[in-house]
Amino acid sequence: MALLVIHTGGTIGMVQTDQGFAPSSGVLETAIEALQSAGDVTGQVEVRAFDPLIDSAQATPVDWSKIAATIHESYEQFDGFVVTHGTDTLAYTAAALCLALRGLIKPVIVTGAMLPLTVEGTDGTRNLRDALRAVTEAPAGVWVQFAGNLLHGGRVRKSHSHAFDAFEAESAPTPPAIPAEVFTLDQVGDHRVGMVSITPGTCAELIGYAAEVCDGIVLRCYGSGTAPETPALRAALSQAQARSIPVVAVSQCAEGGIRLGTYAAGGILRETGVIDGRDMTPEMAYAKVQFALSLFDSIDAQRDYLTTCQCGEYTAA
Ligand code: ASP
Repeated sequence: MALLVIHTGGTIGMVQTDQGFAPSSGVLETAIEALQSAGDVTGQVEVRAFDPLIDSAQATPVDWSKIAATIHESYEQFDGFVVTHGTDTLAYTAAALCLALRGLIKPVIVTGAMLPLTVEGTDGTRNLRDALRAVTEAPAGVWVQFAGNLLHGGRVRKSHSHAFDAFEAESAPTPPAIPAEVFTLDQVGDHRVGMVSITPGTCAELIGYAAEVCDGIVLRCYGSGTAPETPALRAALSQAQARSIPVVAVSQCAEGGIRLGTYAAGGILRETGVIDGRDMTPEMAYAKVQFALSLFDSIDAQRDYLTTCQCGEYTAA
């Protein structure tokens, strides 16, 4: 087995500094050597590290592209891929890799840690070992290995800010990969996508500004897909519609998703062309809008892409 580890940074490979935890080179490589010496990991493992390593708070769609392109370029040389990543934006990257690697027939396992490998009691050793094992056994697709769980990369979200068991995902019958005859890389650019929330007394001017300056919007609505009927919100959403930019609605509830049409109070969304994001995570919706904008020029084609289940990212009706 030949495995490629793409080390982007994150807590897993950090050391304690005067300013707090910061990425440090060599930490991950040393841990992998220790796992190999202990016989916990077999096979050939190559590590390619970001230079500089980043805290995932710094990640942008350019970094998603860099990881996806590395997998694409080295696809024939390796049997599977592990991506070590900071946990803060790990769910966005996992979603993006699901969308970028069309026709993936090998496993890609994304992992990280809540405590650095250099700190006593770290969860990093377990996650790294589990990821290096999962990559030899898991079905094709992009998975997140964390705290003993193998989670769907297109549905995962960070649900706890400091517990070891920090990630959750709805299970899905569809594996986290876009089926295709030929393995291809869908490139993603860095578009201006805004994520805005509806709140009691919504500041509609903020949504209006997003409608003016953004290329796409993820709108976090209430429950099953409701929002207040106000002239200012209607004007803001109509402005987005007039500019032909995609607006995808997702729920502020962690489970269940939206169903536009359940309540009359969702009328404002339907009437202004807002796209039903169903039970996609906000992270997936954000990544999907970035890809829709990168792959298609027209709002109709973007809408088709956004309303098609690509890789099990929402529950089919
Ligand atoms: N801030 C860190 C990061 O996302 C947190 C972590 O890795 O857990 O890179």
